Amino acid sequence: MASHQNKIIIITAPSGAGKTSITRHLLSEMPDKLAFSVSATTRNARTYEKNGVDYFFLSPESFRQNIQENAFIEWEMVYEGKYYGTLKSELERIWKQGKVPLLDIDVKGAIHVMQQFPEDSLTIFIEPPSVSVLRERLTSRGTESAESIEARVSKASYELSFKEHFNFAILNDELTRACKEAQGKIIEFLNE
Ligand code: 5GP
Repeated sequence: MASHQNKIIIITAPSGAGKTSITRHLLSEMPDKLAFSVSATTRNARTYEKNGVDYFFLSPESFRQNIQENAFIEWEMVYEGKYYGTLKSELERIWKQGKVPLLDIDVKGAIHVMQQFPEDSLTIFIEPPSVSVLRERLTSRGTESAESIEARVSKASYELSFKEHFNFAILNDELTRACKEAQGKIIEFLNE
């Protein structure tokens, strides 16, 4: 039987490309194999988000303390003044359950994790059909201010240029098809 020991799956994409929907779908389809790696962040929780489930919502002081203690595999200031990071303790917790952590993180963070786990990581880049579709999705989600949407769209254009760095790129023009394609890649990786 293939070993899942210390494997990592990373779903990365520009914000609004649909990676959270794909991540949720994968977790619901493969609950015995995958577990969501809960990141730490200093941004405010959205109304529907729960501490310890969606993120660990930390104060900037507490986030800095974790950096000093070398508690992160990677961390980034993803948006102006807002920090996000993957905790080593999350990966350990999931591996101990005999599952594979599924990370939903930004492009730079994904590259950092890949560099640390070149043999044991699978990175899937989710590509939005176009920047204008991305803007529409972010607007209709209704969770971001106009300023935040503009920041996310301009960052997305830059992030799209990193597509070639990842193991696979999946075009999210149709969510069901994109989910199926991602699941196929994951099954292959877990069987290696
Ligand atoms: P949001 O604020 O919409 O939840 O997330 C913003 C961006 O930060 C998304 O692209 C998300 O994938 C990314 N992100 C979430 N957690 C982490 C993390 O631990 N590390 C990094 N580098 N990015 C993260």
